[in-house]
Amino acid sequence: MASTDLLVSPRLGRLSELARVRLGQAPTPLEPMPRLAERLGIRQAWVKRDDCTGLAFGGNKVRQLEFYLGQARSEDADTILITGAVQSNFVRLAAAAACQLGMECHIQLEERVPKSDPVYRNSGNVFLDKILGAKLYSYPRGEDEEGADRRLHEIASSLREKGRRPYVIPLGPGHKPLGALGYVVAAAELLAQLEEREVHVDKIVVPSGSGATHAGLLTGLRALDCSIPVMGVCVRRNAAAQTERIKAQCSEIAQLLEIPPVVTNGDVLLIDDFLAPGYGQLGDAAVEAITLSARTEGLILDPVYSAKAMAGFIDSARSGGPQQSLLFIHTGGTPAVFAYGAELADRANKHRDAE
Ligand SMILES: *Cc1c(COP(=O)(O)O)cnc(C)c1O
Repeated sequence: MASTDLLVSPRLGRLSELARVRLGQAPTPLEPMPRLAERLGIRQAWVKRDDCTGLAFGGNKVRQLEFYLGQARSEDADTILITGAVQSNFVRLAAAAACQLGMECHIQLEERVPKSDPVYRNSGNVFLDKILGAKLYSYPRGEDEEGADRRLHEIASSLREKGRRPYVIPLGPGHKPLGALGYVVAAAELLAQLEEREVHVDKIVVPSGSGATHAGLLTGLRALDCSIPVMGVCVRRNAAAQTERIKAQCSEIAQLLEIPPVVTNGDVLLIDDFLAPGYGQLGDAAVEAITLSARTEGLILDPVYSAKAMAGFIDSARSGGPQQSLLFIHTGGTPAVFAYGAELADRANKHRDAE
């Protein structure tokens, strides 16, 4: 069945009625990675190229923003407020989407990563935020979702007093997971591609940060009766904490769609082996993932998310046996490679020497 037919399936409840603006290009490509599969000794490796969603260097947040900005537009907002790490892809894409819709964008950058390197602080996504004309604020802490959200609401109040109509995209849990709906859509899109091309996969590997991508994809697949395991690779918090977060989000998504719960506890799979040394910091496995993907498939990963998820993919390939067919969701984030330039180039070169 085509993905457009799946989207209006009663199994996805109210999905097609909820406010949405089209920002990205879909479907994103589903590509084989034969050289990576061969190197890892597995039957097949696939990548869903959500780094190619089109808008301003692309990435998973394009799909998520379609629902947040749909809501913003239905409330007649003229200004978007969003918070994230210094090298956040979400804020860069919110700024780009706001431009496209004729809105202003105010961005709060949190000190989540202990890096004082001027390249980290000015290149990559920060550079793009400036090109896109966003107004930038900084927030001194990095592990304070509630405080960061509270500050955004304070900025929103002062904008409201000046006659603007702000819309806040919240960070912490406890709000409607509108962004995850973008990945319910992606699940329908992916299923249609797998069916059409008669591709069978044993497992899907995805980074798990706020959880919107992981929870949305998992909910969409299960609602559409697909039982492929989805393994989340922790990039922000440990597996125990992230498991609770994903479970809660899956039930909130089902409520939003007005469908019965479809995700069981056993469906929520997470590994945190590649989280160290912490959010936005590169471990050796992530550097290996970046160099291996680049040098087998020409596929560029980002240092914060997709590199760690690919480290999980490589680990699954090595431990799961030669008959496997694995699918990787590339969530984008590629502008951040420039912000990690010096460190990454140096460590990637060492890999070359070791090969
Ligand atoms: C935000 C982000 C993630 C994590 O997605 P969540 O939906 O927040 O879990 C993964 N990859 C990239 C490139 C991102 O920007």
